[in-house]
Amino acid sequence: MNKYKRIDFDLKEGKKVKLRFYESPEYKNLLWGGWFTVKVGTYFFDKFDLNEQRVIVWHELYHAKHSLFNWLFDSIRLWFDSKKIKWSTEFRADKFAASNCGRENTLKFLRKIKEFYQNGVVKYNSKTHPPIDERIKRVESFLCIK
Ligand SMILES: [Zn+2]
Repeated sequence: MNKYKRIDFDLKEGKKVKLRFYESPEYKNLLWGGWFTVKVGTYFFDKFDLNEQRVIVWHELYHAKHSLFNWLFDSIRLWFDSKKIKWSTEFRADKFAASNCGRENTLKFLRKIKEFYQNGVVKYNSKTHPPIDERIKRVESFLCIK
């Protein structure tokens, strides 16, 4: 088991959330939701400002909240097009993040990820994530979210 530190993160004014911070280099760019906890690697602090970090955490909290549901879905995924399910979960997690910490912050984060994909800082995996332009387009279309 890899060691992690528990840290308090300011999700928004007056609301803190516990994160698991993995300092090991192999986890450098990992930002992912586990079973009801959000885990982050060193890139979380190295590459993103506070607003972007909040987008990440809200996005991952969406996954963490739905992890049991996703696990059930994954278990029977032979019956479904699993890529489509994963992609639609990503879109919903982006929307959840946008409605909690703002459309502009979410777009800023997604555009940064696009840059990271382009210069190889983060590897894009189409099995788990929809194309970044599609994610940006969707968030741009949430006009009712400020
Ligand atoms: Zn996600």
